[in-house]
Amino acid sequence: MKKGIHPDYHPVKVICACGNTFETRSAYPKGDEIHVAVCSNCHPFYTGKQRVRSIAGRGEKFKKKYGLS
Ligand SMILES: [Zn+2]
Repeated sequence: MKKGIHPDYHPVKVICACGNTFETRSAYPKGDEIHVAVCSNCHPFYTGKQRVRSIAGRGEKFKKKYGLS
């Protein structure tokens, strides 16, 4: 039997910078832990919407104040 044709998928623990941890399956070669900067719990796609909207709101006020719109 040849080896190395299929990646060695195994359960790994993903540790996010936000402190969230979850398990997934990966061919990650080193150890059984992966450190990531963002996860579905803190990804800007989920957490940034409100912030982006408030910044846009400020932008509108700014434009009105200076007569740019
Ligand atoms: Zn996270």
